[in-house]
Amino acid sequence: MTERRSYTVDLIAGDGIGLEVVPAATRVVDALAARHGFGVSWREREWGSEYFFAHGRMMPVDGIERLSDGDAVLLGAVGHPELPDHETLWGLLIPIRREFVQYVNLRPVRILPGVVSPLRDVSQLDIVVVRENVEGEYSAIGGRAYRGGAEEFAVQEAVFTRGGIARVARFAAELALARGGGLTSATKSNGIIHSMPFWDEVVASVVGEYDGVGLRSVLIDALAAALVLRPGDFDVIVASNLFGDILSDLIAALAGSIGIAPSANINPPREHPSMFEPIHGSAPDIAGRGVANPVGQFWSASMMLEHLGERAAAAGLMDAVEDVMRAGTRTRDLGGSAGTEEFTSAVLSTINT
Ligand code: ATP
Ligand code: MG
Repeated sequence: MTERRSYTVDLIAGDGIGLEVVPAATRVVDALAARHGFGVSWREREWGSEYFFAHGRMMPVDGIERLSDGDAVLLGAVGHPELPDHETLWGLLIPIRREFVQYVNLRPVRILPGVVSPLRDVSQLDIVVVRENVEGEYSAIGGRAYRGGAEEFAVQEAVFTRGGIARVARFAAELALARGGGLTSATKSNGIIHSMPFWDEVVASVVGEYDGVGLRSVLIDALAAALVLRPGDFDVIVASNLFGDILSDLIAALAGSIGIAPSANINPPREHPSMFEPIHGSAPDIAGRGVANPVGQFWSASMMLEHLGERAAAAGLMDAVEDVMRAGTRTRDLGGSAGTEEFTSAVLSTINT
């Protein structure tokens, strides 16, 4: 007898529309689990801004420790109009990414059925950005001073390590191999003359070990332009923390709505849990009205299922979402009239038939 597959997933619904789209995602995942013969036990964590107002912090002191024995974290959004971003970011998201060494930030983008891209002629788009997630330009090293007692200046150091570049390049190369497409590396070696040539060198040497993967290294400025003009030319893109941040927002915008786009913060060696979250925020302007698009959360949950090894369920979830959208059920951000509940029910009934 084989044991029934079962997973422990920590749920951080967080704030705003996170509280609406996360419960919708757990219902959908539960339906898939029943259908595909596995179990999920959800551990709800009531962390985020309300927790902050009650306790002066975004999560308990031992929050990281409590998550550490789980299989994955499914997150909604954290953010509150009265809390500065650095509080929500540095109080919850960044500690989780760093403590669990989630050095890959993965952002797939596709144009789903019935969605109109802001680019006129683009109906096909299938790109994954692999963003380095823990080092590079986002460093705490630097500060402000005065030159000759007069002019104030600021120094911000970017720190790139050989190991840090190599591991994200390896992940990207393996993904490119699996998808059978090419790999593009974002660089700026003509202007940033120390770290970017180093990035290029390490990426080229790692990707060189993969016979089937063609590597193009493209300057970030030209790449941004090419992504708008010819997005169909790209498949997997590997980029440093800052460049990856900018490119993934650009590409997500091409796909029609911020409500759709998912992301995964992955610890590839699986020594720690990985975290899955939509790229949108808490959207206080629409929170509590039942109109949020749950697709970004569903797609994030699908990436989680894939990471857990539940491939059929992961694909089943996206197939159901696409079927529902193809049949014309869409939320308001996409020009439809469905609310979160109506869209979720449609996905559930597609899964259950
Ligand atoms: P935060 O401070 O938490 O990042 P924000 O307002 O800065 O929140 P988003 O939450 O990403 O940023 O929202 C940007 C805009 O997109 C808002 O107008 C919001 O209503 C809309 N939006 C975001 N997510 C969704 C969604 N899932 N469905 C519909 N509209 C959304
Ligand atoms: Mg925001």
